[in-house]
Formats: sequence, structure tokens, C-alpha cells
Amino acid sequence: MTENSSTNQIKKTTSLNTLNGNDKIHRNKYIEEFVCIKRILETIDTNNFIVNRIYKDVKTYIEVNCDHSVIDDYVDLDPDNGGKPIKYCEYCYKSF
Ligand SMILES: [Zn+2]
Repeated sequence: MTENSSTNQIKKTTSLNTLNGNDKIHRNKYIEEFVCIKRILETIDTNNFIVNRIYKDVKTYIEVNCDHSVIDDYVDLDPDNGGKPIKYCEYCYKSF
């Protein structure tokens, strides 16, 4: 019973991933997960070389696989001067 439902779940996920129109959405869905992993890794002891290696790989994965969508925004550090213009990806938050 449990085995059957888990098999069905795998089939469902596979068929969703092969839908051409949804490829971009799914790719960026994984980017979101990787951005979460990156944030978690940033809170862990950075003197550990294994953590550093995973962090580097996660960063590279995001860099290579994100369909960057750059948006313009302003940082309000100095409201008197109208803020500082910034550009960043809305999916992975990489600044440009
Ligand atoms: Zn991006």
C-alpha cells in the first residue's frame, strides 16, 4: 500500500518535469530550494572545509542554472539622497 503510493508520487513528479512549458518554472523552483540551502550553509561554521565545498558547489549550481531575471530597485540607506540604485536577480538574489 505505502509502496504503491510512493511509486505513484515518483511517476507524477517525473511527468511534471517533462512538461515543456513548465521547464522554466520547475528549474527556478529548484533554484529557490538551492537559495534556501545556501542561506542555511551561510549560518554554519565556515572554517569547515566540507561545508565550504558544499557552499561553493551550491553557489555554482545557482549561478549556472538560474534563469536570471534582473530587476532594478533602490536601497534606502540614505533617504536624503533618494536611495542607492541596485540590480539583482528576483530568483537567486545575485546582484548585478
Ligand atoms: Zn538568478
